[in-house]
Amino acid sequence: MNSIDFCTCADHDCPMHPTKHDKGCTPCIEKNLRFGEIPSCFFNAVKGEEKLTSYYFEDFAKLVMGKLD
Ligand code: SF4
Repeated sequence: MNSIDFCTCADHDCPMHPTKHDKGCTPCIEKNLRFGEIPSCFFNAVKGEEKLTSYYFEDFAKLVMGKLD
């Protein structure tokens, strides 16, 4: 059971995943900010069937711009 109903992150082994603690999105966002990444829920909202290997700001920008073409 996911403690954040809207979280679509499939990495259930990640210690920041909301099922691993009671701090909601805070650990995930803190980690993403520290590494220059965007949380996977944002990618999942726009990526469709695309497979992704990295989640940096630039990857998200490219993904969104590709969907707008
Ligand atoms: S910010 Fe992280 S923990 Fe919160 S919904 Fe998105 S992927 Fe899940």
